[in-house]
Amino acid sequence: MPSLAALLELTDEQARAEWGRILQREWRERQEPYRTVELVLCCALFRVVDPHRFGGQNIHLMPDEVVRLADLFKRSSKSINIKMLNLDGSYANGAACDVPFFDQMAADPVHLAALYERVLLAARHMGIGPERLPDFLEDDIADGAMLSGQAGLPHRPLIEAVETLAAKLRARQLVADEGQTFRVAEQQIRLGQHRFAKEVLANYGHQCGFCDFAPRSLPRKGLLLASHIKPWAACDDFERLDAANGIAACPMHDKAFDAGLITVNGGLRVHQARRLQRSREIDPGVEHSFGPVLRSTLRIPGQAAPAALYLQWHQQHVYADDV
Ligand SMILES: [Zn+2]
Repeated sequence: MPSLAALLELTDEQARAEWGRILQREWRERQEPYRTVELVLCCALFRVVDPHRFGGQNIHLMPDEVVRLADLFKRSSKSINIKMLNLDGSYANGAACDVPFFDQMAADPVHLAALYERVLLAARHMGIGPERLPDFLEDDIADGAMLSGQAGLPHRPLIEAVETLAAKLRARQLVADEGQTFRVAEQQIRLGQHRFAKEVLANYGHQCGFCDFAPRSLPRKGLLLASHIKPWAACDDFERLDAANGIAACPMHDKAFDAGLITVNGGLRVHQARRLQRSREIDPGVEHSFGPVLRSTLRIPGQAAPAALYLQWHQQHVYADDV
């Protein structure tokens, strides 16, 4: 079982040697302890999979990334799910270094990205192609490895949510010290926000729903935002992670939506507040961004339209048509 130092200082040679041993494995009920390359991939997997969504009843529904890793590791999907829950301090009987490793990777996402790339390159060197080990962090690394959507977490409600989650973790007594408990709880919430943002941006085809702006030839980070329709601070735990409560927009239209200058009705028609309409008539700078460039209906490819109850909430509590 690797130590925390061994995890953090994994070399190319060690990664290749570990893959060599994993490739020689046989399927068995109780597999050997997780090796460093497996732990790095399980930690990276939090960027795309929420292990808390899966348990005994729906374990067979785990996403493709997990199923492929399970095949490669000669382990079950359930084993990978449990290892992820060990890493984030939610499930007993993990290795001593699981939570400290998760904690370190939360503090230094660039280090996590570097380890991930080393593990992936070593796998390719050993003949493991993308069909067996897909590059599931490709977009994250292209965007600088930092978590997405974090500006949507307002400070005070975030602290309250962290304290609530930390109290649950503390009750289970799986995390060593108080500081680590808070950091692990905060990272669980930040990872949830990251997965929400990625899912929403994908639903909208990485394009502003209001004006079709799509920065395909530029780094996307910051130029296209995924926001909650019903704001995060007003949501319950389910609503915070529900992609049907998401909208993708360029910074201009994101801010206008948050400020209640525009809204969307149940038929996905875009409405402009009267004060915005008046401003357009006298102010060419406003007309430039909210005139013909603004679509009359929200653009969302496929079937992943926002849910009516969130749009109604926005109309009632944020849209300011009477001002
Ligand atoms: Zn826009």
